[in-house]
Amino acid sequence: MQYHDILNRVAAGERMSEEEFIHLFHQGDLLQIACCASEARQKKLPGNIVSFIIDRNINYTNICSCQCLFCGFYRSDGDADAYVLSRKELYGKIDEARALGATQLMIQGGLNPDLTIEFFENMFRAIKGRYDMTIHSLSAPEVDYVARISGLGLDEALLRLKEAGLDSLPGGGAEILHDDIRQSISPHKISTARWLQVMQCAHRAGLESTATMMMGTVEEIGHRVDHLRRIRELQDQTGGFRSFIAWTYQGGAGTRMLKNHKVTALEYLRFLALARLYLDNVKHIQGSWLTQGAATGQMSLFFGADDLGSIMLEENVVRSVGVKNRLDLAAMIELIRQAGFIPGRRDTQYNIVETYE
Ligand code: SF4
Repeated sequence: MQYHDILNRVAAGERMSEEEFIHLFHQGDLLQIACCASEARQKKLPGNIVSFIIDRNINYTNICSCQCLFCGFYRSDGDADAYVLSRKELYGKIDEARALGATQLMIQGGLNPDLTIEFFENMFRAIKGRYDMTIHSLSAPEVDYVARISGLGLDEALLRLKEAGLDSLPGGGAEILHDDIRQSISPHKISTARWLQVMQCAHRAGLESTATMMMGTVEEIGHRVDHLRRIRELQDQTGGFRSFIAWTYQGGAGTRMLKNHKVTALEYLRFLALARLYLDNVKHIQGSWLTQGAATGQMSLFFGADDLGSIMLEENVVRSVGVKNRLDLAAMIELIRQAGFIPGRRDTQYNIVETYE
């Protein structure tokens, strides 16, 4: 198998197989893969705009029964710093976010046994009653958990959440969609099949989502490719994934992970470019500046990414393990401009609402 033959066939519109992905990952020329990924990006999204969004990540509780080994954020009920946000605190955070131009709220938290579906319905209704904000919130494990502790099926729970104001779902909690890896790093979290089922039900209910991957724990490349295969297969059925977002686990204080594989910038970029080529049915590929840093985020734009995600006004889960990358609006605009692209602020559905030429 010659890597350039594979790239030529993929450039001509053939689907990349999992074996070809792994071959290219190990033996493909990095710059040729990057060129091919950039061309694929241009075919899907012609032009020079690189998008981003201003949003606020609000963690409504840090009490979590899941206790993932890689997580430094969760607390047990009774810990001195365990919390559930009050309505006043929630509004305070949203007011701050609005003042800074945020259009999206990413409300996520731990799997807290005291918070049944009424908590979320009341919260979403209250937010929609006060603010014109998109509620892009609750990862698949949270939806599964809320449904279960409320005695509801997934369809009913999602419908009720949607009626209360939920607009779309972030792709969190996927980590690596392979049960061997899930058993190692988050044994109490929902299985691969359940994560996919939540997404399938959400898409069917009209709640689109993103798809994410957390790489750099104990997985091998084959597990990552298996993850991508499952996303591509479900996307063939539902078309409900708006984007794919891969970020890298950094390890760090407060976690119980004994071992992790530090993903270098080059490995990240190679993987991202191949993901752009492999996920031929996903429109947007996001580069991660949050975990990889601004310079790698900028480089990702030459490796198939068309979006740099959000200027996150609060991100407790990543920060809890010591990652402190930050960008404000001016820095994001400058980052994209310096790379030769036009910054475009977008909404949750990836419509460009303002450009900064
Ligand atoms: S990653 Fe999420 S589900 Fe896992 S322990 Fe942390 S807060 Fe809980």
